[in-house]
Amino acid sequence: MPDDSPTTPETVAPALRPATRAVHAGRPARDPDAPLNTPLTMAATYVGGGDLEYGRYGNPTWTAFEDALGSLEGGRALAFSSGLGAVATVLDLVANDAVVVAPRHAYQGTLGQLGDLQLRGRVQSRLVDIADTDAVVAACDDAAIVWIESPTNPALEVADIPAIVAAAHEAGAYVVVDNTFATPLLQQPLDQGADIVLHSATKFIAGHSDALLGAVVTRDPQLYDVLKGRRDLLGAIPGTLEAWLALRGLRTLHLRVERSQANAVELVRRLEAHPAIERVRYPGFGAIVAIEVAKGPLAADLLCRSTRLWVFATSLGGVESSLERRRRWKGEATTIPESLVRLSVGVEDVDDLWDDLVQALDQLG
Ligand SMILES: *Cc1c(COP(=O)(O)O)cnc(C)c1O
Repeated sequence: MPDDSPTTPETVAPALRPATRAVHAGRPARDPDAPLNTPLTMAATYVGGGDLEYGRYGNPTWTAFEDALGSLEGGRALAFSSGLGAVATVLDLVANDAVVVAPRHAYQGTLGQLGDLQLRGRVQSRLVDIADTDAVVAACDDAAIVWIESPTNPALEVADIPAIVAAAHEAGAYVVVDNTFATPLLQQPLDQGADIVLHSATKFIAGHSDALLGAVVTRDPQLYDVLKGRRDLLGAIPGTLEAWLALRGLRTLHLRVERSQANAVELVRRLEAHPAIERVRYPGFGAIVAIEVAKGPLAADLLCRSTRLWVFATSLGGVESSLERRRRWKGEATTIPESLVRLSVGVEDVDDLWDDLVQALDQLG
């Protein structure tokens, strides 16, 4: 490369593959003595007269994370305080009394926000089985937003995104896809026609169970400006350290997803043959598995407290494997079986993960 050319991955080769983008996107220009990584910029305000002006309007560390995530999803990203901060900002866009179509099984906080907005007469929510494409298409009439989560939490249903996008756009609705479970490496909803992709970057993207962060990504410049304007106004902005940690995590996203997924596939194969497990749900990709314990919810609780390696904890997408019985949460959908345990498969040795699950399952008697 000539010395005066900026050497971001996009200018070097726009067709770089995802693993290379995960490593290289969002780095500073390669000037002599420039740091390889974007530094943590702790700034509540900036010297006046520039583009940023105030800390709520932008930060170079957020931008580095946004460039990297945007590169993986194929759009322009905006980081938020948390996944739910991003959800609230997107839902704030709809007009009063607007119809929002959403999956009946979805992240509890997303359903919680919709329920709250509905209760206050702010929106009308129409909950659907997102895997029943005909039902989703039929619900799109007059909708302002069709909200997709795929795979869903924690039932792991998969949506036909292109078919839903076609029906939603026909009805004049925007399509939002919560891509947290799939990650941009396994599913690129913008390529399938979605208008907004949303992430809880707290999960796989940051990947180490230490930072809360959210993000939205869009290709529509007008939608980007509107979302940026709402973020400025509502203030659901990321912490600088969190954005930095999430970018650090994103550098190994492809390695973690590959290993977690391989572990999940192998564990699913073994769990399906285990007599203590009544049902295994796995969409065929990703690192989240749901099992139903044959002996019921008490046995499921006992399982979660009998593992030594698997951590009993909520959340998912970390390097460490964790598990929990979802119905222990009062707000979980009552259509989720009481004995369902969600497994977030990490990057440990799969035989150690299996041995630990088996010793815990053996304790169920
Ligand atoms: C965790 C999660 C959220 C919420 O994200 P936070 O970062 O915890 O606010 C939204 N959607 C899905 C699918 C999630 O798993």
